Amino acid sequence: MPCHRVVVVGGGFAGFHALRRLQRLVPADVELMLISPTDYLLYSPLLPEVAAGIVQPRHLAISLHRTLPRVQLVLGHVISVDLDNRKLSIRRPGGTLRSEVWDRLVLAPGSVTRRFDIPGVAEHAHGLKTLPEAIYLRDHVLRQVDIADATLDPVEREERLTVVAVGAGYTGTEVVAQMQHWLRTVASGWRNINVDGIRWVLVDRSTTLLPELGARLGGAALRMLEKRGIDVRLGVTIAEAGDRSVTLSDGTVIPTRTLVWGAGTTASPLIGTLGRRTAAGRLVVDAQMRLPGRHDVWALGDAAAVPDLTRAAGPDGHPVSAMTAQNAQRQGRTVARNIAATFGRGFSRQYRHRDLGLAADFGGKDAIARPLGVSLRGVIAKAVARGYHLMALPSLSNRVRVLCDWILDAALPKQMIHISAIRSADALIADAQHTRSYAQPATALPLDSAVA
Ligand SMILES: Cc1cc2nc3c(=O)[nH]c(=O)nc-3n(C[C@H](O)[C@H](O)[C@H](O)COP(=O)(O)OP(=O)(O)OC[C@H]3O[C@@H](n4cnc5c(N)ncnc54)[C@H](O)[C@@H]3O)c2cc1C
Repeated sequence: MPCHRVVVVGGGFAGFHALRRLQRLVPADVELMLISPTDYLLYSPLLPEVAAGIVQPRHLAISLHRTLPRVQLVLGHVISVDLDNRKLSIRRPGGTLRSEVWDRLVLAPGSVTRRFDIPGVAEHAHGLKTLPEAIYLRDHVLRQVDIADATLDPVEREERLTVVAVGAGYTGTEVVAQMQHWLRTVASGWRNINVDGIRWVLVDRSTTLLPELGARLGGAALRMLEKRGIDVRLGVTIAEAGDRSVTLSDGTVIPTRTLVWGAGTTASPLIGTLGRRTAAGRLVVDAQMRLPGRHDVWALGDAAAVPDLTRAAGPDGHPVSAMTAQNAQRQGRTVARNIAATFGRGFSRQYRHRDLGLAADFGGKDAIARPLGVSLRGVIAKAVARGYHLMALPSLSNRVRVLCDWILDAALPKQMIHISAIRSADALIADAQHTRSYAQPATALPLDSAVA
């Protein structure tokens, strides 16, 4: 064990950017360790473009080994944290258990798709939080069209040609709009498929679309989706999901074999195992992202309720920072400085970031964006969104690959083949996002003996 060890849990935006800066800031004798289930940072804002076949999946995966050369990567999920003894239990690939100790800990396990307790959702809904889920979704939709093209049964045909998506935030809306645009472009490639016969239904219990972008842009997005033939149903939700239909809360039954679940996110289940104070499931921390009462533990990103000091405080204090990549990334950099300060390098500071705005790309020339409060639509919004993504992608080689994907997508016929390499069961939310890892008691797992 070196004289000091900083352990980071989760290699998403928050953990990655914390480590990237820590590599430069902390003394050479400090060991940096990252526990992550993958060997890449996933640039999730472009996942809808993977589902729509525009960007190749690997181009959104930023190699942790290449970008974090000073960091020891340990593949696995942290399933419990012993704050008193400064010890972590890690479930490694293959199911074996390993323990690690720390003297500075950064908790950045992000969030998972929120499922609610709706019958059938766990068994039939597919989320869009990981690369396997995005790849599965695209292949699954293409497979449904293939099968529908060759079936003589009109009921089966309707089921296979209907996609229901839940959640009209940026995930649900973008994925429906992007995939619908792409499928319309390629649908003429099948002998018996009429473009207008493919039905897209977007459902949300809220009464507005894209609430993150404000009423005006949300209204513009709604009109645009409806003009394209997408059936948007606001103010209702799913009451039950089955393998061949979903039932809405207003009693409507929609025949479908595809249920896309984008109904928001909730903090990683790891946070609930800590026995510490949470706010809406996120770990409560102070403005320096320290766990109250601890000088050696920080939490940030989607998993933490970091006070947003740029917004006015109410009776319960400041509102918490939104779950966005721009917050997670900047919180990572601030935490790195705060940890460096504990080694006598620089000073600790509070997190403060004014929101830069959001953008949503709907495929083709349709997009909306609100950078720095300015409302934009169409190709200008699309250019702003794409320019931002290129800047935000943290590796030059990934930037070039994504840019080439966009150029190829514009210049060549769109791809319409499915490889179907991911099984439906592996792409269900609980398996793809490993939400069950924490239910298993750590003692029931074999000790660190072999790795699959
Ligand atoms: C489809 C989609 C589109 C989005 N679009 C935008 C956008 O346009 N703009 C924007 O600002 N934000 C966007 N977001 C939100 C943004 O991606 C998140 O806010 C951001 O990723 C949060 O960063 P994080 O580091 O907290 O979590 P994540 O990036 O989710 O990273 C958490 C990491 O921790 C790992 N992990 C989880 N549990 C454990 C564990 N127990 N042990 C070890 N590792 C663990 C996970 O595998 C993951 O790698 C989008 C999200 C999605 C899903």
